[in-house]
Amino acid sequence: MGQGLKITSMSSKSWLQIRDRLKASLPGHIFSTLVEPTSCLETDAALELSFPNRFTKESFEEKCLSPMRLALKELSLDTKRVELFVFKTASVETQPAFLSPSSVSPFDPKYTFETFVIGSSNQFAHAACQAVSRQPGQCYNPLFIFGGAGLGKTHLLRAIGHEIFKTQNNLRVLFLTSEAFTNELIQAIRIDRMREFREKYRASCDVLLLDDIHFLAGKERTQEEFFYTFNYLHESRKQIVITSDRYPKDISGLENRLQTRFEWGLVADVQPPEVETRVAILKNKAEEQNILLPDEVAHYIASHVTSNIRELEGSLHRLQAHASLNHTLITMELAQQTLRDLVPKIRHQLTPDGILKLVALTFGLKIIDLKADKRARVLSEPRQICMYLLRKHLMMSLPEIGAFMGNRHHTTILHGVNEIISRSKTNPEIENNIARIESLIR
Ligand code: ADP
Ligand code: MG
Repeated sequence: MGQGLKITSMSSKSWLQIRDRLKASLPGHIFSTLVEPTSCLETDAALELSFPNRFTKESFEEKCLSPMRLALKELSLDTKRVELFVFKTASVETQPAFLSPSSVSPFDPKYTFETFVIGSSNQFAHAACQAVSRQPGQCYNPLFIFGGAGLGKTHLLRAIGHEIFKTQNNLRVLFLTSEAFTNELIQAIRIDRMREFREKYRASCDVLLLDDIHFLAGKERTQEEFFYTFNYLHESRKQIVITSDRYPKDISGLENRLQTRFEWGLVADVQPPEVETRVAILKNKAEEQNILLPDEVAHYIASHVTSNIRELEGSLHRLQAHASLNHTLITMELAQQTLRDLVPKIRHQLTPDGILKLVALTFGLKIIDLKADKRARVLSEPRQICMYLLRKHLMMSLPEIGAFMGNRHHTTILHGVNEIISRSKTNPEIENNIARIESLIR
């Protein structure tokens, strides 16, 4: 932390008490790296904790915030707000550019271009980000990425930072959220450090990666400051990459002149991923984390969690947690139990007969033929689709499906379900038929 800052030298009595409690409840290394060096400013309404960088702040949020809330309760201090700030004054010293070339990247290696799964939903944004990281400031400036929550915007932003750090170590990269930018600005105004603030974001910055710009909506003072920062960087041909949950013009409460500027370079969107991409992401994440994830289960999760990759990952983690608690491997049964609440309620009202009818209708077949023992190809595929749908949507066991589908052996059902899963990967017609039936189920 910078010297001579009022804010960093103060540690309130409450904070010391909280610290004592945290010392007792947290593992030693967490306490010494995240709690001990943290200083706190106490006001009537809030406890303001300052961190030297975003990573420490995020780690604190993840590992210490709930124990801290518990401590606040025990000390009857839970009426206070807890605010976390990233704050640096002489930040340039710790910028990547000033780290020696062999030093470790400040960008989490989990979020790189290599770990980013490309599909048609994000291909364009991905390509634009790669181009920018190869030639910062030269192709698209600013690059504006927008899209819904959990679709990989921050991942891409980090990947740019990581790549530039790896390949162009002389460039000074600043990566932060718009919220952190705002907080830092407020602090700088409060303690009269605007000169340092401007120095940091203008003269000492070659690449500015600013996450979640929609946060600036309605914050006029921050927008004004950012407007000058933007102009300075843009004129100096320094790369700016911005993410947002909306298209620039759709961010209400954002000044017109900023909206216009955001469209100067390239605007790229990320869309919800298609099912193949979702499956691929799940498999990648499972592999990265050494989780054994059967194909069937990957498809099951991917077909139920459709709009948000963060939730997709969350489901995988939940499943893994259940599996390790029960000392078992991940199976379809476990997935169905664990992720039951992901399946929209309406599905529970579906009946096996309802699904059978939909399949018959879709293929123009008779229900009795689907249940019968006839082996014609025109029948066997729809029959297998039916097995697949019964398993997926009604979570029926293999013997149950067997009994329902004209007394077939459970291994026949297993084979049928697997056939559909593997063939639908290469045969778009099967996939389309399934999608058509599922759209009626929904
Ligand atoms: P956003 O910033 O758009 O809300 P994030 O970038 O935080 O979303 O992504 C949420 C989670 O999903 C992260 O863990 C990220 O690694 C993962 N993720 C998103 N898109 C992809 C992708 N295409 N490939 C691999 N992981 C992804
Ligand atoms: Mg994000």
